[in-house]
Amino acid sequence: MSYESEKAAAIEAALKAAKLCEKVRQERVPEAIEKSDKSPVTVADFGSQALICQALAAAFPNDPVVGEEDSAELREPAMAAQLEQVTSYVQAVVGDATSEEVLSWIDRGNGKTGSRYWTLDPIDGTKGFLRQDQYAVALALVEEGEVKVGVLACPALPVDLNQPESERGVLFVAVRGQGATMVPIAGGEPCPIKVIEKGEGNLRFVESVESGHGDHSRQEAVAKAVGITADSLRMDSQAKYGAVASGQAALYLRLPSPKTPNYREKIWDHAAGTIVVEEAGGRVTDMYGQPLNFSLGAKLVDNQGVIVSNGAIHETVLAALRENS
Ligand code: AMP
Ligand code: MG
Repeated sequence: MSYESEKAAAIEAALKAAKLCEKVRQERVPEAIEKSDKSPVTVADFGSQALICQALAAAFPNDPVVGEEDSAELREPAMAAQLEQVTSYVQAVVGDATSEEVLSWIDRGNGKTGSRYWTLDPIDGTKGFLRQDQYAVALALVEEGEVKVGVLACPALPVDLNQPESERGVLFVAVRGQGATMVPIAGGEPCPIKVIEKGEGNLRFVESVESGHGDHSRQEAVAKAVGITADSLRMDSQAKYGAVASGQAALYLRLPSPKTPNYREKIWDHAAGTIVVEEAGGRVTDMYGQPLNFSLGAKLVDNQGVIVSNGAIHETVLAALRENS
């Protein structure tokens, strides 16, 4: 399968959503709405999910979408003003959308995993988005447990991480067996990307900004043990996968936080990033070296921690983890 139509639809939908998110950031200081699990959501998360689910419903009406958000909070009477804002941002793209339609598109993202499904994080790294930092719109197609297509739109990511003032906004795209590319969101020719070779340049590792999403002290120890001495680059969202895939970092470490040792990762936080790195020649496993299992529902129940590397250093990292346990 070439996945041409899936890739085209995913790119178009993710770019529309990224545009909505940036419009929200330009026009207002995004406000955090607290979800029942205490994590934040914004009008941009809802708008992004509505746009992408609407586009996928039109292109692939039979495909379920497993998305991070649902409309429950937004349907509460106290949230009428926020619903109106979401609707007006969506209308800027889909002219005649009503609030009811917007709510139903958001809820189209409550599908279940199956033999073929999409998984969506409408804003991955909402905390980064709120801090005016990194975030990503992450969309992936999974078939028989294998990610086949992945799109990561990172509107705030510098095209060259070594030059933070360089042009911002990068789109990563990968299709199984066809390689991975990156292109500025502003436009241009997609350029094939490759992970960094072992020993090439100064190795660097990436990790979350949020201390609650990892184990920063163990991550530092493991990086040191494999010879990475540079300070880590801390970044929100799956932009970290993009950094490894494009050779700007050799390693991304995500070990369970001591505060939530039994946390299970969500599929939408990893599916798109995984294929982008694998198709760029890298490797993604859990902390025990097992592949991520995307066939068990919305959570990676079989896996703990995530290790993303250029491939060459992967076994050394897993060995260092076994030593440091
Ligand atoms: P990041 O931007 O890489 O720090 O990751 C953001 C994602 O972390 C969010 O989308 C959440 O789904 C996820 N998350 C929430 N709580 C935890 C936790 N305790 N451990 C790991 N990830 C988490
Ligand atoms: Mg997320």
